[in-house]
Amino acid sequence: MSHIVVLGAGLGGVIMAYEMKEKLGPDDSVTVVNLGSTYSFVPSNPWVAVGWRDREDISVDLGTIFARRGIALRPEGARRVHPADNRIELNDDSFLDYDYLVIATGPDLAFDEIPGLGPAGHTQSICQVDDAEKARTAVEALVRQPGPVVVGAVQGASCYGPAYEFAFILDTALRRAKVRDRVPMTFATSEPYIGHLGLDGVGDTKSLLESAMRERHIKWITNAKVDRVEPGTMHLTEVDEAGSPKAAHALPFAFSMMLPAFRGVKAIHGIDGLVNPRGFVVIDKHQRNPAYPNVFGIGVAVAIPPVGKTPLPVGVPKTGFMIESMVAATAENIAALLHGEAPRAVATWNAVCLADFGDEGIAFVAQPQIPPRNVNWSSSGRWVHTAKVGFEKYFLRKVRQGKADTFYENLVLDMLGIRKLKELRIEPDE
Ligand SMILES: Cc1cc2nc3c(=O)[nH]c(=O)nc-3n(C[C@H](O)[C@H](O)[C@H](O)COP(=O)(O)OP(=O)(O)OC[C@H]3O[C@@H](n4cnc5c(N)ncnc54)[C@H](O)[C@@H]3O)c2cc1C
Repeated sequence: MSHIVVLGAGLGGVIMAYEMKEKLGPDDSVTVVNLGSTYSFVPSNPWVAVGWRDREDISVDLGTIFARRGIALRPEGARRVHPADNRIELNDDSFLDYDYLVIATGPDLAFDEIPGLGPAGHTQSICQVDDAEKARTAVEALVRQPGPVVVGAVQGASCYGPAYEFAFILDTALRRAKVRDRVPMTFATSEPYIGHLGLDGVGDTKSLLESAMRERHIKWITNAKVDRVEPGTMHLTEVDEAGSPKAAHALPFAFSMMLPAFRGVKAIHGIDGLVNPRGFVVIDKHQRNPAYPNVFGIGVAVAIPPVGKTPLPVGVPKTGFMIESMVAATAENIAALLHGEAPRAVATWNAVCLADFGDEGIAFVAQPQIPPRNVNWSSSGRWVHTAKVGFEKYFLRKVRQGKADTFYENLVLDMLGIRKLKELRIEPDE
């Protein structure tokens, strides 16, 4: 009789709960602890921000679905994890004991690291649906009173795809509103070159994204460090290859959306042995924490080293496909431990991403993440937009049905002709 607790019911946590439940015996139980009882599909937030989706379109109430699947839900959220005691302190002062814990708490958004950054300051965010709704009000104001736009990702960010996506989606929305001619757009990023994406590029992402930006009249500044944001002005330092200041920019804006740096959430931040100095869960190749071997980490919450040296800090993205592979490996490994066996499953951590432009888009597959790669592929076209809508519909249906099967393996990989990419590597018994 084992109790498995999944902390966080986002993209990783929800499918983790479903997949774990399927692997457990009738006497074992799964509890999910989340902040609230609603699942929200983060990849659709850029569409919420331009009014192409409403919150209800991308939200799922987990209460009844979990109850149907026999999964307990604690919507109070966690105040602190106490891994030495195998328990979690919840926000209502109660405690929840566990035999195995899977941490899937996603990112804490580090807006406070740059003065004036974020929705409490002067820039918008699309990382959470609440912020995406606020961004939508700001986009509506921009359409009424057009002016310059700055979109991008700050130093230390680890999520560049959505910044590009949002720039192109906003371009499409402004063209449809017939005001694009009055909106000069600049893309400011800490990446060393356009299309780096935290992965040192994938296939031809550099040319594809530069060319898309030229076609859509979006100027760019790379190696850009945001120093501070004042109302209507973003102060940037452009650095050279050694990271030394090269040029100072004061970019005026009527609207700005900048992806912040991420760090681990407060409930785990600073726990010795569990997390790194940024608060991300330290894991081995089996997704397992070395200091607390009954604790696993998946999704954006885990620590992954950067792919190489860059003038400014540029983090590796953790995308849906990678997260699915982390979930599959974790479920397999916890099931092995419950059967008295050693964990042997290793997630492939391949990066597969669809970046939507609103009418077309680019897709890329990096296998493995760090170059040189076996698969280093990128492509563009209208099919990407169609596939992205398909991804949204399929994933939300999967969450509503309480199913654990994987979207990418079933759909996108067939389209790309790359089957079984997610196949787990099972190491031989020692
Ligand atoms: C704007 C945006 C667009 C993206 N688009 C794509 C895309 O198109 N394709 C792709 O593959 N990837 C995309 N990603 C990357 C990634 O897939 C998503 O960020 C994904 O949501 C990460 O899943 P996760 O489970 O790690 O974290 P999340 O989905 O963020 O879930 C974390 C969960 O933990 C909960 N939580 C946090 N703290 C606590 C606490 N103390 N107690 C209890 N619960 C807590 C939160 O409430 C949340 O429910 C995108 C990311 C962003 C930010």
